[in-house]
Amino acid sequence: MAKAKKYVYFFGSGKAEGRADMKELLGGKGANLAEMTNLKIPVPAGFTITTDVCTYYYQHGRRYPAELKAAVAAALAKVEKVMAKKFGDPENPLLVSCRSGARASMPGMMETVLNIGLTTATIPGMIRLTGNERFVWDAYRRLIMMYSDVVMEKAAGLELGEGKGIRVRLEHLMDAMKHDTGAKADTDLAAGQLQRLCAQFRAKVQEVIGKPFPDDPQEQLWGAIGAVFQSWNGKRSISYRRIEGIPDDWGTATNVQAMVFGNMGDDSATGVAFTRNPATGENKFFGEWLTNAQGEDVVAGIRTPNPLNIATKSEHTAHLKSLEEVMPGVYQALFAIRNNLEKHYRDMQDIEFTIEKGTLWMLQTRTGKRTGHAALRMAVEMLRERFITKQVGVMRVAPAQLDELLHRILDPKAEKNAKVLAKGLPAGPGGATGKVVFTAAEAVAWTERGEKVILCRKETNPEDVEGMRAAAGILTALGGMTSHAALVARGWGKCCIVGCGALKIDAAAKTITVADQTLREGDWISLNGSKGVVYQGQLPTVEPDPKNPMLVEFLKTCDAVRRLGVRANADSPKDAAVARKFGAEGIGLLRTEHMFYGEGADEPLFKLRKMILSKTPEERRAACDELYPHVKSDIKGTLAAMDGLPVTIRLLDPPLHEFVPQGEAKQKELADSLGISLDDVRKRAEALHESNPMMGHRGVRLGITYPEVSEMQVRAILEAAAELLKEGKKALPEIMIPVTCTVAELQNQAEIIAKVKAEVVAKFGLKRLDFLVGTMIEIPRAALTANKMAEAAEFFSFGTNDLTQMGFGFSRDDIGAFMPDYIAKKILAADPFQTIDQEGVGELIRMGIERGRATRPKLKVGICGEHGGDPASIHFCHNVGMNYVSCSPFRVPIARLAAAQAAVSEAAKAKKKAKK
Ligand code: PEP
Ligand code: MG
Repeated sequence: MAKAKKYVYFFGSGKAEGRADMKELLGGKGANLAEMTNLKIPVPAGFTITTDVCTYYYQHGRRYPAELKAAVAAALAKVEKVMAKKFGDPENPLLVSCRSGARASMPGMMETVLNIGLTTATIPGMIRLTGNERFVWDAYRRLIMMYSDVVMEKAAGLELGEGKGIRVRLEHLMDAMKHDTGAKADTDLAAGQLQRLCAQFRAKVQEVIGKPFPDDPQEQLWGAIGAVFQSWNGKRSISYRRIEGIPDDWGTATNVQAMVFGNMGDDSATGVAFTRNPATGENKFFGEWLTNAQGEDVVAGIRTPNPLNIATKSEHTAHLKSLEEVMPGVYQALFAIRNNLEKHYRDMQDIEFTIEKGTLWMLQTRTGKRTGHAALRMAVEMLRERFITKQVGVMRVAPAQLDELLHRILDPKAEKNAKVLAKGLPAGPGGATGKVVFTAAEAVAWTERGEKVILCRKETNPEDVEGMRAAAGILTALGGMTSHAALVARGWGKCCIVGCGALKIDAAAKTITVADQTLREGDWISLNGSKGVVYQGQLPTVEPDPKNPMLVEFLKTCDAVRRLGVRANADSPKDAAVARKFGAEGIGLLRTEHMFYGEGADEPLFKLRKMILSKTPEERRAACDELYPHVKSDIKGTLAAMDGLPVTIRLLDPPLHEFVPQGEAKQKELADSLGISLDDVRKRAEALHESNPMMGHRGVRLGITYPEVSEMQVRAILEAAAELLKEGKKALPEIMIPVTCTVAELQNQAEIIAKVKAEVVAKFGLKRLDFLVGTMIEIPRAALTANKMAEAAEFFSFGTNDLTQMGFGFSRDDIGAFMPDYIAKKILAADPFQTIDQEGVGELIRMGIERGRATRPKLKVGICGEHGGDPASIHFCHNVGMNYVSCSPFRVPIARLAAAQAAVSEAAKAKKKAKK
């Protein structure tokens, strides 16, 4: 016969049937209560009814397994034995609590009932036992309030309407009693008054609910157990699960535990503590406590709690007595438990305790939530003490927490109370605050006179770049995560929110309208670019420490653990220097066209425009010759800055329309230089107009139609490298051909490269000139034919911005109009331009790598789309066997961490599999 399923796990008196690693079955609370019991830490005895019962309950029309009754009775008998009391016994009654506890913490979402077992029969015994009549009637009124609300009303599905619920009605009675007796606080009510109140409560329950308040302890217990299971499917819990992505079928466990009381007088107390400071990470025991109180009084903020110890008193709490001073013996015992728990769990714990008449009891321990700063400090200090392994250490800081450490951010406290104006896409990191301006020129002018500004645009184009540089932050109504504004901002580590569709930005009227509100030029707004939230007003910001030594130390640990390489997308010597400072091991994408944006770009931009508007090969060749020194010097500078680390230089991929000059003055200048009329310039510009520029004359197509353009660039790259070698320096360029869809395109360009190589080698008299030639894989056809592409490509770099655009058929600059609805209606789980769509686009990548390596087993593979800086996508890149990811320099630390975490997760999965 199969062994009967075990539904109830007992813990008490130093022995528990459960363990910490049984969270799936016992929930977090139950598993940790069992673990603490086994550690001989004083935990009131109790038992956990498993999550399997919850699952069974919902699968069987809200009925329990037949064996449950007997199992609960047996466990309760054990609790009675340990506590030397009996549930329902008039002489020596045991009271219990009933609490929920799911696998993942769902704070405040489910129900709790305390003081179960108080009845007209047990109250006198309880009074005799405690010698405290007031305490017992107070406990009884708390039971009636909680139980009638949680069990008799909510779990029974009564819909009494807003403000008509039983809890509110009972609170009215209590207020009336306080009023009539002149009591100010609940604690001022005397025993007799509370006793009368309890009678009124019971009558009210009968009147409102139509049933008597149960006076049978077993009925109370089973009512509470049922209510906990019911609360798993309460509205609050369901919404919380949706937000946190917790599956509905996990279920909750129920913990039934002997009551201990922190409100039995001045030798009783209750408190909440963290084994280290959760805000700073400092290795100091930190917490709060209250004498003569129950746990809910500490968390509900009814009374101001006292500091736990002398060391953590602040100027605001210096006058309050600490537990260390008031009950030194108990504090020492608690401190020993703190050490014991940290040593055991090897992580900061969040604990709850109660002191009943001088005896300490632990009610909970769980891994404590912490700020980014605290997470980093704790991880580094624990690593230094060899308290945890490198593998454990790198999992202790979430990638999002690094954002807090790398960028100036809005003060989180101020953010909580600020007015949200709108939400958009989190395109550039950190926080910024400034005055609203509407044009790039104003952004520059205002900044020059010392103002801080946020540049607000419907969308941006290269002519806004100066303004984008000058502004403290950028806000656009249109565009996606891979739109031009987003790419540029991220590259600079500048705070930026794009696709903020709710904002009507009217640059002519100089107004932003959102809902019924209008903002004008000069009004303050604040941006949280890591979350995509726009706030009204000027919020305070918090500065990062640029040379945070703990961060440097922590990232070194990450490097020791990870397998995936981390490079940066960098377009200039300056960016390259930043990239190296953040630990980049190379450049995975140098977008040549970016040298035509921003500071000092006027001259090369002019020449590029000339090249674009050239009509004949001669004109174009002449323009190329003029452009050549700019391109070479820029590339040489970057190669030198990277000092022999690989630099992937992409041949020009300019969206031509973005580079066509706007405005008469600029067009005239160009006309003069080309020796043609203004009208001709306009005509040539119009001829460049494309209906669909993203799928137009870009990337390699430009090099196929204008081989002289490719030739000029290849020469610039190879001569830059040759010059460096001649100067005794190192250079390792990788030439990358963009927007390819067939190997024939690669072969065509390879011929040009081979010819130029021979010329450069001869010119410089070099024995060897090392470089690679590869391609971007950003068109689905290229991924599908990767076996062929690899014949001509020595490396692949997945351009997931375009691969997503073309895989989905979503224009990357126009998703703002529909993506929010796609997410809200759950058509897509996430914006595929932010995190790789593993199911579809991911499949193209997987297939591309597999097919490519079938042809060329050592094919080097990386990613250079924006996904290269997204932690979930980095895990994916690790799992599909890429060699490296490449992302904005400012995201390099996050990528180093995410790559290390991917390696640890993979090893853990393999270990689990091997065990099975
Ligand atoms: C890409 O498409 O992913 C890419 C990196 O190229 P770009 O964003 O410049 O088109
Ligand atoms: Mg691309």
